[in-house]
Amino acid sequence: MQTNQSLSERAKMVMPGGVSHELRYRPDHPVYIDRAIGAEKWDVEGKRYIDFKLGAASQLLGNSCHEVMEAVARQLSKTPYTGDCHALEIEWAEWIAKLVPSAELVRFTGSGTESTMLALRLGRAWSGKDKVLRIDGHFHGWHDMLLKGSKPGTNLPPSLGVPNAITDLTVVAPPSLDNIRALLEQDAEIGTIFVEASGANYGSVPLPDGFLQGIRDLATKLGKVLIFDEVITGFRWSPGGRQALDGVVPDLTTLAKVVTGGLPGGAICGRADIMELLDPGKPRDGLAPPVSHKGTFNAAPLVAAGAIAAMELLSTGDVQAIADAMAARLRDGVNACFAKRGLSAVAYGDSSTCHLFFGGRSVEGLSAAEIRTVNPALVNGLRGGLLNRGVDFMSFTSCVTSSAHTPELIDEALELFDETVADLIKTGVITA
Ligand code: PMP
Repeated sequence: MQTNQSLSERAKMVMPGGVSHELRYRPDHPVYIDRAIGAEKWDVEGKRYIDFKLGAASQLLGNSCHEVMEAVARQLSKTPYTGDCHALEIEWAEWIAKLVPSAELVRFTGSGTESTMLALRLGRAWSGKDKVLRIDGHFHGWHDMLLKGSKPGTNLPPSLGVPNAITDLTVVAPPSLDNIRALLEQDAEIGTIFVEASGANYGSVPLPDGFLQGIRDLATKLGKVLIFDEVITGFRWSPGGRQALDGVVPDLTTLAKVVTGGLPGGAICGRADIMELLDPGKPRDGLAPPVSHKGTFNAAPLVAAGAIAAMELLSTGDVQAIADAMAARLRDGVNACFAKRGLSAVAYGDSSTCHLFFGGRSVEGLSAAEIRTVNPALVNGLRGGLLNRGVDFMSFTSCVTSSAHTPELIDEALELFDETVADLIKTGVITA
Protein backbone atom coordinates (compact mmCIF):
# COMPACT_ATOMS: atom_id res chain seq x y z
CA MET A 1 0.00 0.00 0.00
CA GLN A 2 1.15 3.54 -0.74
CA THR A 3 1.82 5.66 2.33
CA ASN A 4 2.70 9.32 2.68
CA GLN A 5 6.15 8.21 3.83
CA SER A 6 6.78 5.79 0.93
CA LEU A 7 5.59 8.32 -1.66
CA SER A 8 7.85 10.98 -0.17
CA GLU A 9 10.85 8.65 -0.44
CA ARG A 10 10.04 7.92 -4.11
CA ALA A 11 9.42 11.62 -4.82
CA LYS A 12 12.82 12.64 -3.44
CA MET A 13 14.51 10.35 -5.98
CA VAL A 14 13.08 12.26 -8.94
CA MET A 15 12.15 15.77 -7.75
CA PRO A 16 14.25 18.29 -5.74
CA GLY A 17 13.07 17.95 -2.15
CA GLY A 18 10.35 15.67 -3.50
CA VAL A 19 8.07 18.60 -4.30
CA SER A 20 6.74 20.69 -7.19
CA HIS A 21 6.28 23.89 -5.11
CA GLU A 22 8.60 24.87 -2.26
CA LEU A 23 5.72 25.53 0.15
CA ARG A 24 4.53 21.92 -0.23
CA TYR A 25 7.74 20.71 1.41
CA ARG A 26 7.51 19.39 4.96
CA PRO A 27 10.50 18.38 7.08
CA ASP A 28 9.14 14.87 7.74
CA HIS A 29 7.05 14.25 4.64
CA PRO A 30 4.09 15.94 2.94
CA VAL A 31 0.66 14.37 2.87
CA TYR A 32 -0.29 13.04 -0.56
CA ILE A 33 -3.88 13.93 -1.34
CA ASP A 34 -5.93 11.42 -3.26
CA ARG A 35 -9.35 13.10 -3.55
CA ALA A 36 -11.17 16.18 -2.37
CA ILE A 37 -14.74 17.34 -2.23
CA GLY A 38 -16.24 20.48 -0.72
CA ALA A 39 -14.27 21.54 2.34
CA GLU A 40 -12.72 18.11 2.90
CA LYS A 41 -9.96 16.01 1.36
CA TRP A 42 -8.43 12.58 1.92
CA ASP A 43 -4.82 11.43 1.65
CA VAL A 44 -3.52 8.17 0.17
CA GLU A 45 -3.80 6.52 3.60
CA GLY A 46 -7.50 7.37 3.77
CA LYS A 47 -7.04 10.06 6.41
CA ARG A 48 -9.50 12.92 6.15
CA TYR A 49 -8.64 16.64 6.46
CA ILE A 50 -10.85 19.70 6.90
CA ASP A 51 -9.40 21.93 4.24
CA PHE A 52 -8.51 25.58 4.81
CA LYS A 53 -5.85 25.64 2.10
CA LEU A 54 -8.31 25.07 -0.73
CA GLY A 55 -5.92 24.95 -3.65
CA ALA A 56 -3.79 27.85 -2.36
CA ALA A 57 -6.99 29.91 -2.09
CA SER A 58 -8.19 29.05 -5.59
CA GLN A 59 -11.18 26.87 -4.61
CA LEU A 60 -13.60 29.47 -3.27
CA LEU A 61 -16.48 27.21 -4.33
CA GLY A 62 -14.99 24.30 -2.39
CA ASN A 63 -12.97 21.40 -3.79
CA SER A 64 -14.28 19.66 -6.92
CA CYS A 65 -17.25 22.01 -7.30
CA HIS A 66 -19.96 20.01 -9.06
CA GLU A 67 -20.96 22.68 -11.62
CA VAL A 68 -17.32 23.35 -12.57
CA MET A 69 -16.53 19.63 -12.90
CA GLU A 70 -19.61 19.05 -15.09
CA ALA A 71 -18.68 21.91 -17.40
CA VAL A 72 -15.10 20.63 -17.66
CA ALA A 73 -16.33 17.10 -18.42
CA ARG A 74 -18.66 18.38 -21.14
CA GLN A 75 -15.82 20.33 -22.75
CA LEU A 76 -13.42 17.39 -22.39
CA SER A 77 -15.74 15.34 -24.56
CA LYS A 78 -15.25 17.92 -27.36
CA THR A 79 -11.58 18.91 -26.93
CA PRO A 80 -9.48 20.07 -24.00
CA TYR A 81 -7.32 22.31 -26.14
CA THR A 82 -6.30 22.95 -29.74
CA GLY A 83 -4.47 26.29 -29.59
CA ASP A 84 -7.19 28.10 -31.55
CA CYS A 85 -9.66 30.88 -30.82
CA HIS A 86 -12.95 29.57 -29.39
CA ALA A 87 -16.31 30.97 -28.28
CA LEU A 88 -15.85 30.13 -24.59
CA GLU A 89 -12.94 32.55 -24.10
CA ILE A 90 -15.21 35.39 -25.23
CA GLU A 91 -17.96 34.46 -22.77
CA TRP A 92 -15.37 34.20 -19.99
CA ALA A 93 -13.90 37.64 -20.84
CA GLU A 94 -17.44 39.10 -20.95
CA TRP A 95 -18.03 37.85 -17.40
CA ILE A 96 -14.82 39.49 -16.18
CA ALA A 97 -15.68 42.75 -17.98
CA LYS A 98 -19.12 42.69 -16.37
CA LEU A 99 -17.92 42.00 -12.82
CA VAL A 100 -14.53 43.73 -12.40
CA PRO A 101 -14.72 47.56 -12.45
CA SER A 102 -11.32 48.12 -14.13
CA ALA A 103 -11.93 45.53 -16.87
CA GLU A 104 -12.45 47.35 -20.16
CA LEU A 105 -10.42 44.67 -21.96
CA VAL A 106 -9.16 41.25 -20.82
CA ARG A 107 -6.16 39.06 -21.77
CA PHE A 108 -5.79 35.49 -20.45
CA THR A 109 -2.48 34.10 -19.17
CA GLY A 110 -1.12 30.82 -17.82
CA SER A 111 -0.87 31.73 -14.09
CA GLY A 112 -0.79 34.55 -11.53
CA THR A 113 2.94 34.92 -12.02
CA GLU A 114 2.44 35.33 -15.76
CA SER A 115 -0.29 37.89 -15.08
CA THR A 116 1.99 40.11 -12.99
CA MET A 117 4.82 39.72 -15.54
CA LEU A 118 2.55 40.85 -18.35
CA ALA A 119 0.97 43.69 -16.37
CA LEU A 120 4.43 45.02 -15.51
CA ARG A 121 5.53 44.83 -19.15
CA LEU A 122 2.44 46.85 -20.08
CA GLY A 123 3.16 49.35 -17.28
CA ARG A 124 6.70 49.82 -18.58
CA ALA A 125 5.57 50.10 -22.18
CA TRP A 126 2.84 52.61 -21.37
CA SER A 127 4.93 54.79 -19.06
CA GLY A 128 8.17 54.44 -21.00
CA LYS A 129 9.91 53.95 -17.65
CA ASP A 130 11.71 50.83 -16.46
CA LYS A 131 11.39 51.10 -12.67
CA VAL A 132 8.52 49.69 -10.60
CA LEU A 133 7.54 50.61 -7.06
CA ARG A 134 6.13 47.78 -4.95
CA ILE A 135 5.09 47.49 -1.32
CA ASP A 136 7.18 45.68 1.29
CA GLY A 137 6.02 42.10 1.83
CA HIS A 138 3.44 42.03 -0.97
CA PHE A 139 3.66 38.92 -3.13
CA HIS A 140 3.32 39.04 -6.90
CA GLY A 141 4.55 35.61 -8.01
CA TRP A 142 7.98 34.12 -8.37
CA HIS A 143 9.48 35.87 -11.43
CA ASP A 144 12.63 38.02 -11.17
CA MET A 145 11.05 41.42 -11.61
CA LEU A 146 8.91 41.62 -8.48
CA LEU A 147 10.72 39.20 -6.20
CA LYS A 148 12.72 41.83 -4.30
CA GLY A 149 10.60 42.94 -1.36
CA SER A 150 8.39 39.87 -1.25
CA LYS A 151 10.14 38.77 1.94
CA PRO A 152 9.27 41.64 4.26
CA GLY A 153 11.94 43.87 5.74
CA THR A 154 14.82 42.54 3.61
CA ASN A 155 14.85 44.65 0.43
CA LEU A 156 16.46 41.64 -1.27
CA PRO A 157 15.11 38.93 -3.56
CA PRO A 158 14.65 35.77 -1.46
CA SER A 159 16.42 33.70 -4.12
CA LEU A 160 19.77 33.22 -5.78
CA GLY A 161 19.84 33.71 -9.53
CA VAL A 162 18.07 37.07 -9.71
CA PRO A 163 20.31 39.55 -11.54
CA ASN A 164 21.22 42.81 -9.77
CA ALA A 165 20.43 44.61 -13.03
CA ILE A 166 16.80 43.51 -12.54
CA THR A 167 16.49 44.10 -8.80
CA ASP A 168 17.93 47.60 -9.27
CA LEU A 169 14.75 48.38 -11.20
CA THR A 170 12.49 47.41 -8.27
CA VAL A 171 11.91 50.00 -5.54
CA VAL A 172 10.40 48.68 -2.29
CA ALA A 173 8.37 50.95 0.00
CA PRO A 174 6.35 50.44 3.18
CA PRO A 175 2.62 51.17 2.76
CA SER A 176 3.05 54.80 3.74
CA LEU A 177 1.65 57.36 1.30
CA ASP A 178 4.09 60.08 2.44
CA ASN A 179 7.04 57.76 1.92
CA ILE A 180 5.75 56.63 -1.49
CA ARG A 181 5.09 60.20 -2.62
CA ALA A 182 8.68 61.15 -1.69
CA LEU A 183 10.10 58.14 -3.58
CA LEU A 184 8.03 58.88 -6.68
CA GLU A 185 9.05 62.53 -6.63
CA GLN A 186 12.74 61.66 -6.16
CA ASP A 187 12.98 58.99 -8.84
CA ALA A 188 11.52 59.97 -12.21
CA GLU A 189 12.35 56.53 -13.64
CA ILE A 190 9.51 54.86 -11.68
CA GLY A 191 6.58 54.40 -14.08
CA THR A 192 4.54 51.58 -12.53
CA ILE A 193 3.15 50.88 -9.05
CA PHE A 194 2.16 47.39 -7.85
CA VAL A 195 -0.08 46.79 -4.82
CA GLU A 196 -1.60 43.60 -3.38
CA ALA A 197 -5.10 45.05 -3.01
CA SER A 198 -5.71 43.38 0.37
CA GLY A 199 -2.32 44.25 1.88
CA ALA A 200 0.50 41.70 2.02
CA ASN A 201 -0.30 38.00 2.00
CA TYR A 202 -4.05 38.43 1.38
CA GLY A 203 -4.39 40.86 4.23
CA SER A 204 -2.15 39.46 6.96
CA VAL A 205 -0.55 42.92 6.86
CA PRO A 206 -3.59 45.18 6.49
CA LEU A 207 -3.21 48.41 4.50
CA PRO A 208 -3.74 51.67 6.40
CA ASP A 209 -7.22 53.18 6.02
CA GLY A 210 -7.57 55.14 2.79
CA PHE A 211 -4.36 53.69 1.32
CA LEU A 212 -5.90 52.45 -1.94
CA GLN A 213 -7.63 55.77 -2.65
CA GLY A 214 -4.46 57.62 -1.66
CA ILE A 215 -2.24 55.64 -4.00
CA ARG A 216 -4.84 55.96 -6.77
CA ASP A 217 -4.73 59.77 -6.36
CA LEU A 218 -0.92 59.80 -6.31
CA ALA A 219 -0.65 57.61 -9.41
CA THR A 220 -3.15 59.77 -11.29
CA LYS A 221 -1.44 63.01 -10.27
CA LEU A 222 2.06 61.80 -11.17
CA GLY A 223 1.06 59.83 -14.30
CA LYS A 224 2.06 56.35 -13.07
CA VAL A 225 0.41 53.09 -14.11
CA LEU A 226 -1.33 51.66 -11.02
CA ILE A 227 -1.72 47.87 -10.90
CA PHE A 228 -3.77 46.05 -8.27
CA ASP A 229 -2.77 42.43 -7.79
CA GLU A 230 -6.13 40.74 -7.19
CA VAL A 231 -4.86 37.19 -7.72
CA ILE A 232 -6.32 36.24 -4.33
CA THR A 233 -8.87 39.01 -3.71
CA GLY A 234 -10.44 38.82 -7.20
CA PHE A 235 -14.00 37.38 -7.01
CA ARG A 236 -13.31 36.51 -3.33
CA TRP A 237 -13.58 39.91 -1.61
CA SER A 238 -16.69 40.50 -3.75
CA PRO A 239 -17.83 39.42 -7.25
CA GLY A 240 -15.80 42.41 -8.51
CA GLY A 241 -12.86 41.81 -6.16
CA ARG A 242 -11.35 44.27 -3.69
CA GLN A 243 -11.71 47.17 -6.13
CA ALA A 244 -15.51 46.85 -6.33
CA LEU A 245 -15.93 47.24 -2.56
CA ASP A 246 -15.02 50.90 -2.31
CA GLY A 247 -14.77 51.80 -5.98
CA VAL A 248 -11.03 52.48 -6.17
CA VAL A 249 -10.25 51.45 -9.74
CA PRO A 250 -6.66 50.65 -10.82
CA ASP A 251 -5.35 51.02 -14.37
CA LEU A 252 -4.64 47.28 -14.62
CA THR A 253 -5.68 44.28 -12.51
CA THR A 254 -3.94 40.91 -12.26
CA LEU A 255 -6.09 37.81 -11.68
CA ALA A 256 -5.64 34.04 -11.19
CA LYS A 257 -6.92 31.35 -8.78
CA VAL A 258 -10.67 32.05 -8.45
CA VAL A 259 -10.99 33.67 -11.92
CA THR A 260 -10.40 30.25 -13.51
CA GLY A 261 -12.87 28.44 -11.27
CA GLY A 262 -9.80 27.02 -9.55
CA LEU A 263 -8.27 25.55 -12.72
CA PRO A 264 -4.79 26.38 -14.06
CA GLY A 265 -4.54 29.83 -15.63
CA GLY A 266 -4.88 33.55 -15.04
CA ALA A 267 -5.86 36.86 -16.61
CA ILE A 268 -5.17 40.55 -16.65
CA CYS A 269 -7.67 43.30 -17.36
CA GLY A 270 -7.74 47.04 -17.40
CA ARG A 271 -7.95 50.33 -19.25
CA ALA A 272 -8.60 49.87 -22.96
CA ASP A 273 -5.92 52.37 -24.01
CA ILE A 274 -3.23 50.40 -22.14
CA MET A 275 -4.55 46.91 -22.96
CA GLU A 276 -4.66 47.85 -26.66
CA LEU A 277 -0.87 47.71 -26.66
CA LEU A 278 -1.48 43.94 -26.92
CA ASP A 279 -3.54 44.34 -30.10
CA PRO A 280 -1.69 42.91 -33.13
CA GLY A 281 -4.01 44.96 -35.37
CA LYS A 282 -2.76 48.26 -33.91
CA PRO A 283 0.96 48.47 -34.68
CA ARG A 284 3.15 51.10 -33.03
CA ASP A 285 6.83 51.89 -33.57
CA GLY A 286 6.92 49.20 -36.22
CA LEU A 287 5.74 46.56 -33.77
CA ALA A 288 2.55 44.56 -34.14
CA PRO A 289 1.53 44.11 -31.41
CA PRO A 290 3.44 46.88 -29.61
CA VAL A 291 3.64 44.68 -26.47
CA SER A 292 4.28 41.01 -27.14
CA HIS A 293 2.52 38.28 -25.17
CA LYS A 294 2.19 34.63 -26.07
CA GLY A 295 1.45 31.49 -24.03
CA THR A 296 0.50 28.07 -25.33
CA PHE A 297 -2.23 27.34 -22.78
CA ASN A 298 -3.78 30.83 -22.39
CA ALA A 299 -7.58 30.50 -22.13
CA ALA A 300 -7.57 26.74 -22.80
CA PRO A 301 -11.18 25.68 -23.57
CA LEU A 302 -11.15 23.16 -20.73
CA VAL A 303 -10.34 25.92 -18.26
CA ALA A 304 -12.67 28.46 -19.90
CA ALA A 305 -15.61 26.05 -19.60
CA GLY A 306 -15.02 25.54 -15.86
CA ALA A 307 -14.39 29.24 -15.31
CA ILE A 308 -17.69 30.25 -16.93
CA ALA A 309 -19.57 27.82 -14.70
CA ALA A 310 -17.75 29.35 -11.71
CA MET A 311 -18.49 32.93 -12.84
CA GLU A 312 -22.21 32.18 -12.86
CA LEU A 313 -22.02 31.00 -9.25
CA LEU A 314 -19.71 33.83 -8.16
CA SER A 315 -21.63 36.67 -9.76
CA THR A 316 -24.37 37.17 -7.17
CA GLY A 317 -22.27 37.54 -4.03
CA ASP A 318 -24.09 34.68 -2.24
CA VAL A 319 -21.10 32.38 -2.39
CA GLN A 320 -18.79 35.06 -0.96
CA ALA A 321 -21.30 35.77 1.86
CA ILE A 322 -21.22 32.11 2.97
CA ALA A 323 -17.42 31.89 2.84
CA ASP A 324 -17.11 35.19 4.74
CA ALA A 325 -19.49 34.00 7.47
CA MET A 326 -17.51 30.78 7.86
CA ALA A 327 -14.24 32.72 8.20
CA ALA A 328 -15.82 35.03 10.79
CA ARG A 329 -16.96 31.97 12.76
CA LEU A 330 -13.42 30.54 12.56
CA ARG A 331 -11.79 33.82 13.68
CA ASP A 332 -14.26 34.22 16.56
CA GLY A 333 -13.68 30.65 17.70
CA VAL A 334 -9.89 30.99 17.53
CA ASN A 335 -10.05 34.24 19.51
CA ALA A 336 -12.24 32.52 22.11
CA CYS A 337 -9.60 29.78 22.38
CA PHE A 338 -6.82 32.38 22.83
CA ALA A 339 -8.86 34.24 25.47
CA LYS A 340 -9.74 31.05 27.35
CA ARG A 341 -6.05 30.10 27.49
CA GLY A 342 -4.86 33.61 28.38
CA LEU A 343 -2.72 33.97 25.26
CA SER A 344 -1.62 37.29 23.87
CA ALA A 345 -2.53 36.34 20.30
CA VAL A 346 -5.21 37.23 17.78
CA ALA A 347 -7.10 35.85 14.79
CA TYR A 348 -8.04 38.54 12.27
CA GLY A 349 -8.66 39.11 8.57
CA ASP A 350 -11.05 40.39 5.92
CA SER A 351 -13.42 38.54 3.66
CA SER A 352 -13.00 34.74 3.77
CA THR A 353 -9.54 34.76 5.40
CA CYS A 354 -8.21 34.03 8.85
CA HIS A 355 -4.72 35.15 9.92
CA LEU A 356 -3.05 34.39 13.25
CA PHE A 357 -0.60 36.61 15.13
CA PHE A 358 1.13 35.44 18.29
CA GLY A 359 2.90 38.68 19.31
CA GLY A 360 -0.03 40.62 20.78
CA ARG A 361 -3.78 41.19 20.60
CA SER A 362 -3.66 43.37 17.46
CA VAL A 363 -1.44 43.90 14.43
CA GLU A 364 -2.38 47.55 14.07
CA GLY A 365 0.60 49.78 13.33
CA LEU A 366 3.04 46.86 12.99
CA SER A 367 5.28 46.49 9.93
CA ALA A 368 5.11 43.55 7.55
CA ALA A 369 8.39 42.23 9.00
CA GLU A 370 7.06 42.45 12.57
CA ILE A 371 3.85 40.63 11.67
CA ARG A 372 5.36 37.99 9.42
CA THR A 373 8.55 37.08 11.26
CA VAL A 374 7.30 34.02 13.06
CA ASN A 375 8.94 31.58 15.41
CA PRO A 376 9.60 28.47 13.26
CA ALA A 377 8.89 26.10 16.19
CA LEU A 378 5.48 27.67 16.56
CA VAL A 379 4.66 27.65 12.86
CA ASN A 380 5.79 24.05 12.40
CA GLY A 381 4.18 22.98 15.67
CA LEU A 382 0.87 24.56 14.85
CA ARG A 383 0.71 23.52 11.21
CA GLY A 384 2.07 20.04 11.92
CA GLY A 385 -0.16 19.57 14.97
CA LEU A 386 -3.23 20.59 13.02
CA LEU A 387 -2.33 18.35 10.07
CA ASN A 388 -1.85 15.38 12.41
CA ARG A 389 -5.32 16.02 13.78
CA GLY A 390 -6.84 16.33 10.29
CA VAL A 391 -6.95 20.08 9.70
CA ASP A 392 -5.03 21.63 6.80
CA PHE A 393 -4.36 25.27 7.62
CA MET A 394 -2.57 26.99 4.75
CA SER A 395 1.16 27.68 5.03
CA PHE A 396 2.48 30.11 7.63
CA THR A 397 -0.32 31.24 9.92
CA SER A 398 -3.05 32.06 7.43
CA CYS A 399 -5.94 30.29 5.79
CA VAL A 400 -9.10 30.75 3.74
CA THR A 401 -12.62 29.38 3.80
CA SER A 402 -14.97 28.43 0.97
CA SER A 403 -18.70 28.35 0.34
CA ALA A 404 -18.55 24.60 1.01
CA HIS A 405 -17.61 25.03 4.68
CA THR A 406 -20.41 24.54 7.19
CA PRO A 407 -20.76 25.68 10.80
CA GLU A 408 -20.32 22.02 11.86
CA LEU A 409 -17.01 21.71 10.01
CA ILE A 410 -15.75 25.01 11.43
CA ASP A 411 -16.67 23.94 14.97
CA GLU A 412 -14.98 20.58 14.50
CA ALA A 413 -11.84 22.33 13.25
CA LEU A 414 -11.98 24.72 16.23
CA GLU A 415 -11.99 21.83 18.68
CA LEU A 416 -8.94 20.37 16.98
CA PHE A 417 -7.31 23.83 16.97
CA ASP A 418 -7.87 24.13 20.72
CA GLU A 419 -6.34 20.68 21.31
CA THR A 420 -3.30 21.63 19.21
CA VAL A 421 -2.80 24.90 21.09
CA ALA A 422 -3.14 23.08 24.43
CA ASP A 423 -0.40 20.70 23.31
CA LEU A 424 1.89 23.52 22.23
CA ILE A 425 1.40 25.25 25.59
CA LYS A 426 2.21 22.00 27.37
CA THR A 427 5.44 21.58 25.39
CA GLY A 428 6.42 25.24 25.93
CA VAL A 429 6.23 26.18 22.24
CA ILE A 430 3.48 28.71 23.03
CA THR A 431 3.77 30.80 26.17
CA ALA A 432 1.10 33.08 27.60
N1 PMP B 1 -0.08 37.38 -6.70
C1 PMP B 1 -0.59 37.01 -5.52
C2 PMP B 1 -1.21 38.05 -4.65
C3 PMP B 1 -0.53 35.67 -5.11
O1 PMP B 1 -1.02 35.32 -3.91
C4 PMP B 1 0.05 34.71 -5.98
C5 PMP B 1 0.12 33.23 -5.61
N2 PMP B 1 -0.11 32.88 -4.32
C6 PMP B 1 0.57 35.14 -7.20
C7 PMP B 1 0.48 36.47 -7.54
C8 PMP B 1 1.19 34.16 -8.15
O2 PMP B 1 0.24 33.33 -8.69
P1 PMP B 1 0.64 31.88 -9.29
O3 PMP B 1 1.01 31.03 -8.12
O4 PMP B 1 -0.60 31.44 -10.01
O5 PMP B 1 1.78 32.09 -10.22
